[in-house]
Amino acid sequence: MSDEAVGGDALLAATAEAAAPRANVLEVTPLELGGGERIADELQHWRLRRDADGVYWALLDQTGTAANTLNEPVLEELERIVERVRSDRPPGLVLRSAKPAGFAAGADIGMFRGLTDPVRVRELVERGHRVVNALADLDLPTVALIHGHCLGGGLELALACRYRFARRDASLGFPEVQLGLHPGLGGTARLPALVRPDEALKLMLTGRSISAERARSLGLIDAVAEERHFARAVQLAVAGQVERRGGGAAVRGMTLGPARMLVARQARSETAKRAREEHYPAPYRLLDLWERHGGSVDDMLRHEPASFAELLTGETAQNLVRVYFLREALRGRGKGRPSAIHRVHVIGAGTMGGDIAAWCAHRGLVTTLEDREARLIAPAIARATELFERRYDDRRARQAAHDRLVPDPSGAGRRKADLVIEAVPEDLELKRRIFGELEGQVKDGALLASNTSGLLLQDIGQGLRRPERLIGLHFFNPVARMQLVEVVRHPALDPALLARALAFVLELDRLPVPVQSAPGFLVNRILSPYLLEAVLLLDEGVAAERVDAAAEAFGMPMGPAALADQVGLDIALEVGEGLRATVEPTLPEVPEWVRRKVADGHLGVKSGRGIYEYEGGTRKKRKAPESADPAHIDRLMLPMVNTAVTCLGEGIVDDADALDAAMVFGTGFAPFRGGPLHYARERGPEALRRRLEELAEQHGPRFRPSPYWSRVFAAAAGEPPAAPDAPPAAPPQP
Ligand code: NAD
Repeated sequence: MSDEAVGGDALLAATAEAAAPRANVLEVTPLELGGGERIADELQHWRLRRDADGVYWALLDQTGTAANTLNEPVLEELERIVERVRSDRPPGLVLRSAKPAGFAAGADIGMFRGLTDPVRVRELVERGHRVVNALADLDLPTVALIHGHCLGGGLELALACRYRFARRDASLGFPEVQLGLHPGLGGTARLPALVRPDEALKLMLTGRSISAERARSLGLIDAVAEERHFARAVQLAVAGQVERRGGGAAVRGMTLGPARMLVARQARSETAKRAREEHYPAPYRLLDLWERHGGSVDDMLRHEPASFAELLTGETAQNLVRVYFLREALRGRGKGRPSAIHRVHVIGAGTMGGDIAAWCAHRGLVTTLEDREARLIAPAIARATELFERRYDDRRARQAAHDRLVPDPSGAGRRKADLVIEAVPEDLELKRRIFGELEGQVKDGALLASNTSGLLLQDIGQGLRRPERLIGLHFFNPVARMQLVEVVRHPALDPALLARALAFVLELDRLPVPVQSAPGFLVNRILSPYLLEAVLLLDEGVAAERVDAAAEAFGMPMGPAALADQVGLDIALEVGEGLRATVEPTLPEVPEWVRRKVADGHLGVKSGRGIYEYEGGTRKKRKAPESADPAHIDRLMLPMVNTAVTCLGEGIVDDADALDAAMVFGTGFAPFRGGPLHYARERGPEALRRRLEELAEQHGPRFRPSPYWSRVFAAAAGEPPAAPDAPPAAPPQP
């Protein structure tokens, strides 16, 4: 480092004052990078150029993708570039992306699918390590120029460079933990050597991304710079005139024995609050690595591949990778033509309508919100204000979202809307009346949607002149948190409008799953037997905490007693009764004490008392956690699996993957188990069927295996699909 070294802040000033900029690859065409001398023709995914100073620029531009990801071909070519740099010895090497989306979005997750052999995975990872280590070992200035996403493997490449400069729009992070992994290309070793290990671990354990500014303050990058200053920043770095921010004595001190153990202990106890080791091992393996080897970067680098390979070939990571692709598949259903919906009108400003309208405004749509009186709209606007406060730092953007949400007690917005969403109480006559009125008011191409959670679209649409433009858009509560939307179709629906509705849900940044209009649709139908079984366990005298502990031990984010309180005992009772009267005749009656609670107004969280007691929406006096009884786990979870089989058999949903995805994103069904049908396949359909028969003998016919059991699992095993045993349940009338 020269005597004139400058820090990141000074760098900005220095570059701003820099002498007349010379023609440079970046200044010629910032992202297309057409300038400079091209010096390698044989590369598919990188472009290698030499600028006027002789510095090599390796520009990542993966073929056939909008965002760069790291896979074997990309790394192989990088290896060739590094070899070339080693023999040509240019004054410096720059790594950056030629794609507007960002530096690199991480590993190509497709590579992770179906890997079962840890030895082979370890070899693959070690090969990747050799490339990244060779980059890190170059004894000339290497600079990563970062914009947009710089995640996972992308950040690991940047970490292997000597300098990192980022544009203000950069977002950096290690999301691997969300896939049941920890970083695998040297990140676990290089990050804690650069930024304070407690902060480094937090980044890797939570998977959260950080802004360029935050990354600079942590020492992860050396400077935040404007695009126009990048070229000068490279010149200064190559000249050794940039002071690096990361590392230092404070960081090193925390890697030493006792300090390291303390950091690990604290991180372990934070982790234990969020995830159980038996469900999500990755954070714990990362902490093991750090505890045992964190004193030496080389040691960490040596041990990372084996730990990564164990995780990647384990059940949790494989199922989380599966869930990643399930989400992509749901998103795929909404892709294609845009919805052409720009104005939305929502009728009913209650819990759901108010929040749906706020979310639409947040997503950029002009949204009018109607209720019977202006005062009934006010609470929804107040909630929207809170949502916008949380979502926008920028005052003008927040105000713009506000301006898009228009209280409309007179219903003037009905005539201008491209989509009307009805969210009035669950009353068939009321809904029919409203859609009847709407037919004469809305524009010709407008879509009419109901947020009903259980009424059949065929019934709501009865008497309409054009029932083909009525659809169900079943949002879940709370709208801002729940990603799934059931898009409910019925025989009269126009398929073109279904496609528009699916696109609209995706434009709202929600996940659409098409389902048939049958009692309970999909998610509530599958969830009801689970909630009912919990109530029956309570009826047998099992403590609510113990019932919830069983579901949590399985991996549910919340036990069924807590969930019933959250949904509202009144609503859970109504849905359960409706299903028993229609499609689920083997369900027993809901115990009398539940009816009494509902009659007395003890409805759950919303009334301050249900199965548990609440104060300000939070549970009062929590008892010490109860241990889970494995028999309870089966009693709670297998009815869900069994009903899932029936729903697939009845054709309520198109395929098993859509069903699994709906349960993961609509109810939080243990993601690391990959969905209820996948869980059944992993545990063994035949063993499960026998277990259900055993439970039926002990507890009654509600446990009898679904009549669709063999057909569903034979199809899953790749046998040709048999003719349906029975036509999809003709939706019985409630
Ligand atoms: P809610 O009682 O909170 O809100 C209904 C709103 O509709 C009230 O503000 C009421 O004043 C208004 N309203 C009544 N008649 C009206 C009319 N003629 N014109 C305009 N507004 C009128 O109910 P909610 O919980 O928001 O449920 C609404 C719909 O969403 C129901 O069909 C329900 O089944 C469904 N849903 C509810 C949930 C949930 O968790 N609450 C979840 C999914 C779906």
